[in-house]
Amino acid sequence: MKKRRKLKPAVLKKLKIVVLIFVVLFVGILFINNEKNTLRKLSYSEKAISSIFQKWQISAVKEIGENKTINAAFESKNYQQKNLKVYQKVTYQNQKDLIKNINTLTKKGYKPNEISMILEHGDNKDVTEFAKRKKVKYLEQYFSIPYAKLKNYDRYVAYYDQEREDAETTVLHVNLDFDKEEYEDVIKIDTFSENVLVNKHRMLTEKFVPKNLKKVPSKYLKSKNETIEVHQKVLAAFKKMQEEAEKDNIYLLINSGYRSFQDQLDTMELYKEAYGQNYVDNYVAKAGFSEHQTGMSIDVASRDVSTFVESNEYSWMMDNAYLYGFILRYPKSKEEITGYKCEAWHYRYVGIKAAKYIHEHNITYDEYYIMFLEEE
Ligand SMILES: [Zn+2]
Repeated sequence: MKKRRKLKPAVLKKLKIVVLIFVVLFVGILFINNEKNTLRKLSYSEKAISSIFQKWQISAVKEIGENKTINAAFESKNYQQKNLKVYQKVTYQNQKDLIKNINTLTKKGYKPNEISMILEHGDNKDVTEFAKRKKVKYLEQYFSIPYAKLKNYDRYVAYYDQEREDAETTVLHVNLDFDKEEYEDVIKIDTFSENVLVNKHRMLTEKFVPKNLKKVPSKYLKSKNETIEVHQKVLAAFKKMQEEAEKDNIYLLINSGYRSFQDQLDTMELYKEAYGQNYVDNYVAKAGFSEHQTGMSIDVASRDVSTFVESNEYSWMMDNAYLYGFILRYPKSKEEITGYKCEAWHYRYVGIKAAKYIHEHNITYDEYYIMFLEEE
């Protein structure tokens, strides 16, 4: 009994310590779990959370709250503690080297809003390349324009030096490759899309064949025996337009629609023989460069007047075509942009929304495409 009594305090002490350790551990685990749950609720990934714990940044991150760039930063092996505030302010982009590039751009002297701008205008590769160069001037001037491209930066500067256009025009023109020669270094397009842009810098290959071509009923044809096909949407819109036009005693006919790559080769030869090379260069699209290959274009004729531009049908089209989704593709005042002399008869179907915008803002389809449709 004596011995036991002597031993008891020591055992008790050990027990107390063990219990204390368990309690501390238990509370610790509860605490960690609680903090982890808070971070999970803020959409942080498990990988980011464990890195946040390792770096003792729990309270900092909790204060920041939900932030995709912060999440990416803690997931990344390139995380730099001194850039935490930068990560917080930079708009997230799903790019492989996001954090590495933010670090580099910060080091080059860019502010978070400038970095966001840079990231927004290019893909991972573009940004990585851009981050390698010295800090550039006029960043905001060009990249506050939504469709400016990071990879075109040098071309914008060079074009501006030469042409002294405003930033928006500069970006539009460079994106349209106006700083390159016509027919040189062209973009080649193999696959059909309804809104495809064709001009002297963008050609359709032999493989490009439109979908959903429909035969135009002979009552809509200028030459009744011809076979003309257009995209089904073009035909539907034309029918509707002609129904309305008839109420104004206007009689629209179709003179040309889809032309295949081979058709164009044949046409070029024919016109060259008849009118010479100069005519061909100005009025006949080279094979692959004709919008007629898209199936989305028509040449319109008047039933009664042979020179379209002198007809009532032409005036009516100028006022109303856009309501049905058609635009005059090569207007007189836009020859510099379209690269073609005015073709009063050539209409492109672009859908009502685009046609309205183009009509109301007096711009070309080339510009509209760059501003709203181009994807990469
Ligand atoms: Zn045409």
